[in-house]
Amino acid sequence: MMRLPRFRYLAPSSLAEAAAALADLGPDAAVLAGGTDLFPNMKRRQQTPGTVVALRGIAALRGRSVDPANGLTLGALTRLSAIEHDRELAGAWPALARAAALVATPPLRNMGTIGGNLCLDTRCSYYDQSHEWRAAIGYCMKKDGDVCWVAPGSRRCWAVSSSDTAPVLCALGAEVSLVSGAGERRIAVTELFADDGIAHLTRRPDEILAQVHVPAPAPGERSAYVKLRRRGSFDFPVLGVAVWVRLAAGGAVEAARIFVGGAGSRPHEARAAAELLVGRVLDDDRVIDQAAGMIAHIAKPMQNTDLTLSWRKTVAREYAARALRAVVAAVPAPRG
Ligand SMILES: Cc1cc2nc3c(=O)[nH]c(=O)nc-3n(C[C@H](O)[C@H](O)[C@H](O)COP(=O)(O)OP(=O)(O)OC[C@H]3O[C@@H](n4cnc5c(N)ncnc54)[C@H](O)[C@@H]3O)c2cc1C
Ligand code: SF4
Repeated sequence: MMRLPRFRYLAPSSLAEAAAALADLGPDAAVLAGGTDLFPNMKRRQQTPGTVVALRGIAALRGRSVDPANGLTLGALTRLSAIEHDRELAGAWPALARAAALVATPPLRNMGTIGGNLCLDTRCSYYDQSHEWRAAIGYCMKKDGDVCWVAPGSRRCWAVSSSDTAPVLCALGAEVSLVSGAGERRIAVTELFADDGIAHLTRRPDEILAQVHVPAPAPGERSAYVKLRRRGSFDFPVLGVAVWVRLAAGGAVEAARIFVGGAGSRPHEARAAAELLVGRVLDDDRVIDQAAGMIAHIAKPMQNTDLTLSWRKTVAREYAARALRAVVAAVPAPRG
């Protein structure tokens, strides 16, 4: 059985108190939300904080306001199951509700939060192993070692962003508020991520992700999310395709954003595919196939997650096409 190491536990009751603790402790502290990622990582000694700063007592991080006319604001502690089961939210932002519903299992979604999902550690088959396993191979660059076993000549880590909601929130044009002792800053979710398996977040160690803001859907907007994984009951994505489109009255695409998750250290934008869709009606199989090929080209997986690399490359195009067809079938955002 893997046990948690010893650590100091702080339970601040306000954001200011939590921010002051993080500023004081620096990188030796870790923020705790639902703990469904942090605690397993600590058991495997992938993350070894001396102090854990628990957010659960901070009421300001719990609130959520779901208003299709003015937008969605989710406190960072909003549980994934609350997002999954909120009908009003699912009506206006279906891809977000779908992505939340596809994370892990019901018990994990009852504990896991939207803030934790966005700040999820990157994953790799050489890293998500017990401490003994990692010690046996001499560790790796991401923790305690100096070589990358996926690309031994590489100077960077290629661990994978495996959050289901991250590509969706990028496609929806969402923003996050980050709070520290120095104040609050609001950035696009796309700017929260960096293309590096180790320094995968631009969030500073003293910052707390406080809220997620999703713009109100305009008339004609639709969104969809499609996920590839080994077991439909609980696995992480090895590919996630999030599509957002705005359709004109005649059905032609006015604007589109497409992001791919599970295939790089950050969600990657398939900009060329999105541009191809503009002005087209998505009932043409040739357009869908061409755009799917461009999306699959962005999804360049390494051999460091589940399923064989060649099979994943082969099915990426099919999953991208499914995401494009799903967005056509998606219920349009309510008008006005
Ligand atoms: C068996 C299993 C299957 C899983 N499958 C999936 C899956 O399919 N898809 C998926 O996306 N995830 C999956 N997960 C991962 C995890 O359950 C979810 O991502 C969950 O949403 C994490 O949220 P949490 O609140 O539990 O995060 P925590 O574990 O509390 O934190 C995760 C990370 O984020 C940081 N953090 C948390 N909240 C904040 C904040 N407000 N500000 C700054 N930093 C913060 C923590 O320091 C930590 O590094 C799985 C986990 C398990 C154990
Ligand atoms: S990609 Fe390389 S450095 Fe990063 S976790 Fe995997 S083996 Fe380690």
